[in-house]
Amino acid sequence: RLKEGRALAEDVWSIYNVANLPADCINLGQGYMNFLPPKWVTEAASKALLGVTENHYSHPKGRMRLRQALKSMYSPLFNRDLDVESEILVTSGANEGQYSVFTAFLEQGDEVIMFEPFFDQYLPSITFNGGTPVYVPLHPPKADVKKPTSNQWTIDLAELRAAITPRTKMIIVNTPHNPVGKVFSRQELEGIAALAEEFNLLVMSDEVYETLTFDGEEHVRIATLPGMWDRTVTVGSAGKQFAATGWRVGWLIGPASIIRPTLAATTRIVFCTNSPLQEAAAAGIEEAEKRGYYAQQRTEYTERRKILTDVFDALGLTYSLPLGSYFILVDIRKVQFPDDFPFPPSVLGRARDFRVAWFIATEIGVSSIPVSEFYCEEHASIGEAFIRFSFCKDHETLHRAAERLQQKL
Ligand code: GLN
Repeated sequence: RLKEGRALAEDVWSIYNVANLPADCINLGQGYMNFLPPKWVTEAASKALLGVTENHYSHPKGRMRLRQALKSMYSPLFNRDLDVESEILVTSGANEGQYSVFTAFLEQGDEVIMFEPFFDQYLPSITFNGGTPVYVPLHPPKADVKKPTSNQWTIDLAELRAAITPRTKMIIVNTPHNPVGKVFSRQELEGIAALAEEFNLLVMSDEVYETLTFDGEEHVRIATLPGMWDRTVTVGSAGKQFAATGWRVGWLIGPASIIRPTLAATTRIVFCTNSPLQEAAAAGIEEAEKRGYYAQQRTEYTERRKILTDVFDALGLTYSLPLGSYFILVDIRKVQFPDDFPFPPSVLGRARDFRVAWFIATEIGVSSIPVSEFYCEEHASIGEAFIRFSFCKDHETLHRAAERLQQKL
């Protein structure tokens, strides 16, 4: 199972890595920022490197200052007084936290349900831990919807119910969603929660884009719905909040019954997360709200989103306006490329969107990510209608990218 299909194949982030693309290609592919974290955060990072304990192992649960900061930030958001010893766990990025949850809870053959498209990393993280991924569609907006938003990608609770078997262990929720940008509504989450309760399932709620919702959209945490705290683990990320994706600092919040076994797994996988950047993440969280940082971030991202949507409007390309996250899905079925274009083998064997993304990166000079990667192999033909652009870039870069797309696409 480990060696099956996609799990050991080259991942999309490596294929479309800037190292493989022309040097002057503008990178709107992998979602990381081309600007610095806030100054008060980088200063805290520099300072931490000069401290003795900050250069050593931290407690596997995470450094106390960061756990305290997380407690202060999240207790009001989860409507409970979070316990820093048993309900908060710092992890080496959100990825490792999720992997550790799978390691702690999955038995061979356990099924994990996710909505498709899904963040690609879930699939191998589940199969490496002996689990079986099960897919329930997020249905794209109907063709006659004029200006679709990400929230018109919809779930069908009857399909979710039908996917549940005696082997189902867990449902993954991802809101705001990567790659769609969908922000799940309270009603949708209530429907998922009711099924989780009825069938006694765990929920892993990946909320790493929690601070990035737009147009007044409310971020609802499924763990706060009645009865859900005890079965839900929520995933967060310093990288997304503070423009520091390379730090690999993330966290899990949940009941002791989930956090304790996951702590055992994370302790054996990485032992602990790097100490100095935990201090910096703590400083970031301690100050962010006071400084109005999250509100300002939302404003800036709303402007960034518009730079791209303006050009897609001008080009007549259909997209789903993202109400959360920093990704935008564009329908590329109209985009043509020459049949004899020199595609590398890593792209040739894949769905059409891989070729479109490669063509746009190498001929037009703007990189993106093909969306069939966020579908299982059997469903790649649905995903190949789209490519994903990231708008976590400074305004100037987005304007340059928009200009290139406008002139050459
Ligand atoms: N979350 C990032 C994105 O979707 C990628 C993370 C990764 O490369 N594993 O672009």
